[in-house]
Amino acid sequence: MGTISKHEKGAAHPFHSSQLRYAAAYVLITSAVLLVLNIYAPIMIRNLTYASQSHAMLDKAQLLVSAFSNSDRLDGETVREVIQSVDDLHTARVVITDVGAHCVYDSLNTNAAGIRLVLYPEVASALEGNDAVYIRYEPGLLISKAAMPIVAYNRIIGAVYLLERDSDQAALIASLQTTIFWISIGMEILVIIFSVVFATVYSRRMGELFVSVRKLHGGDYSARLPERGHDELARLGTAFNRLAARLDQSEGVRKQFVSNASHELKTPLASIKLLTDSILQNNMDPATMREFVADVGDEADRLTRLSAKLLELTRLDSQPAEDRELVQVRGVADRVLRMLTPVARKQEIRLALDCPEGIVVLATADDLYQVLFNLVENGIKYNVKDGSVMIRSELVSDSVIISVEDTGMGIPDSEKPHIFERFYRVDKARSRKAGGAGLGLSIVSDMVTRNEGSITVTDRKGGGTCFRLSFPFYPMPEEELT
Ligand code: ADP
Repeated sequence: MGTISKHEKGAAHPFHSSQLRYAAAYVLITSAVLLVLNIYAPIMIRNLTYASQSHAMLDKAQLLVSAFSNSDRLDGETVREVIQSVDDLHTARVVITDVGAHCVYDSLNTNAAGIRLVLYPEVASALEGNDAVYIRYEPGLLISKAAMPIVAYNRIIGAVYLLERDSDQAALIASLQTTIFWISIGMEILVIIFSVVFATVYSRRMGELFVSVRKLHGGDYSARLPERGHDELARLGTAFNRLAARLDQSEGVRKQFVSNASHELKTPLASIKLLTDSILQNNMDPATMREFVADVGDEADRLTRLSAKLLELTRLDSQPAEDRELVQVRGVADRVLRMLTPVARKQEIRLALDCPEGIVVLATADDLYQVLFNLVENGIKYNVKDGSVMIRSELVSDSVIISVEDTGMGIPDSEKPHIFERFYRVDKARSRKAGGAGLGLSIVSDMVTRNEGSITVTDRKGGGTCFRLSFPFYPMPEEELT
């Protein structure tokens, strides 16, 4: 069991929480965008208003200037007539000056005519021949000034000066600015609420994940996460649950294996203890003692076989298949039968082989030997007197089929799905008597699988059992055929 690091133990410091950082980043970015909007939008609105107001003021000045186009001189009388002839200009003030900047007409101060000099910069610019316009916005008021030269017969004879104070447009600009400001504040509040809610939900779900990981780390394989949603965290949760279920299952298998193995080891050890105690306590005659010692030897043999099988299983679990090569089925089957002939003869069982030359499978030769050995050995062990065991191989479409058939007692249908499980025995008494521990077929199944084959078990026609191995077909290389 591993140790939990300092980082995993406590809750994350708020500043080390990625979701809080994301939330802060959202708030900062949106604040910056809204700030720029609040600065830039009013400037744009003002510029647009200034542009349209400049045009309007110059148009009005132009209207007045055109009305003077036929006058060669500006005196009070002519100016008043012209101004009356022009429709209402909607301006706060109209000033007409002569070429020397003397006031000829002032709509606000009729007494100023002839006495006062008009020294506005717009008028000075107009008397130099330029159109001048000046717009200024102050809260509640838009002030517009425009001046234009009055030209008659190609000569500047004076200037027109207009002043306008517009509170309606100023109110419009102010209200637009205020609206943008409050919309920005509203949006920012929404962003903050959304970020806080998002960060809270996210951190709660991450917290659940951490708690479950910690439980798993502590050996609690029942830890599971609620499966909801379809986002990345939900998928992470599903992957975690699958991993936990898998660990749970392997832990169960491991515990079962250890308990079965201990049980299997305990039985012969208990027999050895019983036998040795009897030898030590009783005054036995030498013949009985020899019998007891022989029994101790048998139990020791059983222990040796059992530990060899356990080692084989561990090896199969931890090591991949060694280099595989094309192996002649007939050669391997021949060796297996030769090796088991003495055992078969002792039990009056006939062994037979029906394997044409040239049928090969891609496998580790030792694995194939071990598989056939276990199956034939079982065929002998669970057979009847005068029975037989036969190894057959054939090519069926794209597969090599190797079958091991016996004329024995057979396996009930209800037991067939379990016989490849570790420590599973059908006929417990007979298996134990024959020195079996229910491991042979699980070793066979593991070996077949790691050589890309499959194994099935069926009843043999006429009684007995038939194990069928299927391997992918590989043609024999030509040089080996000759
Ligand atoms: P064991 O070491 O006990 O033989 P196996 O894994 O080889 O274990 O076999 C599992 C069980 O399947 C055996 O206990 C036996 O009851 C049954 N079995 C295996 N092969 C045969 C067979 N050819 N005929 C009948 N029963 C068999």
